[in-house]
Amino acid sequence: MCPQFDDHSQRVVSTGTETRAVIAPATGEPLGSVPESTAQDVTAAVETARKRQAQWAEVPLETRGAVIEQFAELVLTHRKSFLDTLQAETGKSRQTALEELLDIQSTCEHAVDRGPAALADEPRKPAFSLLSIATVTYEPVGVVGVISPWNYPLNLAMVDTIPALLAGNAVVLKPDEKTPYGALLLAALLEQAGLPDGLFQIVAGDGETVGGRLIETVDYVSFTGGTETGRAIAEQAGRNLIDCSLELGGNNPLVVLDDADIQQAAGGAASACFSNVGQLCLSAERIYVERSIYDTFVRAFVEETERLTLGTDQSFGADLGSLINETQLQKVQSHVDSARESGATVQTGGRPRPDVGPYCYEPTVLTDVAPDSRVACEETFGPVVSVTPVDSEAEAIERANDSPYGLNASVWSGDLERGEHIARQINCGTVCVNDGFTVAWSATDAPMGGMGESGIGRRHGPEGIRRYTESRTVAVSRVGPLEFPDQLPTEWLVTGFVGISRLRRRLKRTIRTVRD
Ligand code: NAD
Repeated sequence: MCPQFDDHSQRVVSTGTETRAVIAPATGEPLGSVPESTAQDVTAAVETARKRQAQWAEVPLETRGAVIEQFAELVLTHRKSFLDTLQAETGKSRQTALEELLDIQSTCEHAVDRGPAALADEPRKPAFSLLSIATVTYEPVGVVGVISPWNYPLNLAMVDTIPALLAGNAVVLKPDEKTPYGALLLAALLEQAGLPDGLFQIVAGDGETVGGRLIETVDYVSFTGGTETGRAIAEQAGRNLIDCSLELGGNNPLVVLDDADIQQAAGGAASACFSNVGQLCLSAERIYVERSIYDTFVRAFVEETERLTLGTDQSFGADLGSLINETQLQKVQSHVDSARESGATVQTGGRPRPDVGPYCYEPTVLTDVAPDSRVACEETFGPVVSVTPVDSEAEAIERANDSPYGLNASVWSGDLERGEHIARQINCGTVCVNDGFTVAWSATDAPMGGMGESGIGRRHGPEGIRRYTESRTVAVSRVGPLEFPDQLPTEWLVTGFVGISRLRRRLKRTIRTVRD
């Protein structure tokens, strides 16, 4: 046991005696253990959060923003603890850990900068101009349950928590069982930044018991994880008539057009496929290349892939770290094995690397992959990608869209207009031109999320803040009840109404014609 990792364990809301060990992927050895929450603990956490939320909602938005700014500053100050913790519990490279940490800054900055506009009262077109007023106000939903995954345990917890807090909600977070320590450190810093007690709490334990009870008790659930879990969560949220956002899996395509800068595309594809050893929901797992440049691209891409270094130490030296655990390693290996059995060629990689760490696996490029193989159809969530030639733009689009998922895609072209034209035909929540995913993810003012089996709802942008609110329309009549006057015969009123409606339509048509 390592005392450093047990420092913040008492922050878990837990009255029981059960604990759960946390394993370091780099060694396969225990890092420490964390108390488990019971279903009753979850209920108690939500009740406390609900009481505190009512007061927090009355705190001016500016003051809530100041707490978030202070929190962002503290995260930077404690960056070394965060990097050490992240690396220890996820096995990721220090470089990837740093990227994750810095992303929390963007999340906080976006919430503080854009929150006031997203949450401000909005005058809307009233029922009758001059006679009435309509205003929309955005009220916090109450207590938000955030259920987060292990692959980016800090920034994916915060990208959902920070806008919820800013909008006046309380948050109860259930981190993944494998990666609770970063979340506990975040809780300590939110408190240090001045967040009132009870507004951000952590419950720990398995998905069904702890996550399940959370969904039963909160007013909104924000989930990031696998598609099958997302389905179960949506059903439960539906039964409780609460809203939810679901950020789920993907099998993301990357298209290289014949006018692309091949070297640039090959380098970009290597980061798009292998960042965080492919354990990134936005990672590309299927590459389609126009046939005239296919061989040259594959050569360049293999070279770029072979340049990537594996390592699990605390230096910034290695590009890629470890997979999270044995289950993930087995899944990656079985996808590669079944592709091989159905005729795929391993251009590079295709091997575990126990000499680096017990769950390390080489970045792997496959060609000649059968379109119905698991690698082509399912999410591997590891360092494995297939590369396939296509005969036209149209085929590239068709193949890219041939998936039940729709999270992220990437298009590479020397002609930005052409790239954008193709991007608009790919059915994904984000499509990046000449970049794998960073250009979309880092555009925090633009919404981000999945189509199809990749999810429901959007984070980032005003959408990512407003999802944590209920809109309320306040409509005011300046002239008392808006009713048909009793004094006039109904016949006259109907004739008048019909005449005015037709006149208004004609007038609007004329204005449109003159304007165009
Ligand atoms: P998972 O769905 O098994 O677990 C994610 C979280 O949900 C964990 O905290 C877990 O404890 C909890 N959980 C599990 N079952 C639950 C239940 N029945 N009720 C409530 N909570 C429950 O996730 P995983 O498969 O280990 O994570 C990887 C997946 O997450 C991949 O598919 C990946 O693409 C996806 N992901 C998506 C995004 C995105 O933004 N779209 C980001 C990261 C990861």
